[in-house]
Amino acid sequence: MKFLCIGRNYVEHAKELGNEVPDEPVIFMKPKSALHQVNSPFYYPEFTNELHYECEVVLRISKNGKYVQEKAAKSYYDAISVGIDFTARDIQNELKKKGLPWEKAKAWDNSAILGVWQPMSLVNDVKNINFSMKKNGDLVQLGNTKDMIHGFDKIIAYVSNYFSLNIGDVIFTGTPKGVGECVVGDELEGFLADTTMFKLLVQ
Ligand code: MG
Repeated sequence: MKFLCIGRNYVEHAKELGNEVPDEPVIFMKPKSALHQVNSPFYYPEFTNELHYECEVVLRISKNGKYVQEKAAKSYYDAISVGIDFTARDIQNELKKKGLPWEKAKAWDNSAILGVWQPMSLVNDVKNINFSMKKNGDLVQLGNTKDMIHGFDKIIAYVSNYFSLNIGDVIFTGTPKGVGECVVGDELEGFLADTTMFKLLVQ
C-alpha cells in the first residue's frame, strides 16, 4: 500500500504557510513504512526541531484503478477517517527553499497516523463533513470538507492519472488551517464529527 497525499487543498491553510493556492492538486506520497501502528508508541523524530501536525480526512481505496473518471470515483473508496500527516516543518522549509523533493520532511517512518475506519455508508454528504483535532484538550484544527478546493472525486480521478490506485491505498485529502507544532508529552485527539477517531501521545 501507499499513501497519496494532497497538499494545499484548503485556501486558508495555503495562506497560513505563505503558499499560493494551486490550480491543480499538489500531490506527494508516503510509503507503506510511514504507517504508524495503532498500538505502538509514537516517538518524536530525532532529525527535526519543528514537528507539525496536519489533521486530515483520509479515504481508503477499495478497488484497483487507473484513469478513473470523476463520476465513477465514489466506487473506489469505501471507508473514511481522520489522520495526521506529520511533517518536519523545519526540514520541509529547507527543501522548499532549494526546490528539492519533500520526502525527508513528509515520508519518514510513522509519519502517517490513521484513525479508525468508518464505512462510507455512514456519511450522508461527502461535501459537508466536520472534522477536528484537539491538542491537550484544546481545539487546534477545525475543518469541513465543503472548504476543500478539490473534492474527493476530483482527487481520486486526478491522482489515478499518474499513479495506479490499489486496494488498501490511503488518500490524505489535505489539512485545514491551524497546523502547528507539537512536543514530547502532547496528546493529540482527532474527531470525525463528534466521534474520536484517534488518540496519540507524542513520546
Ligand atoms: Mg498535509
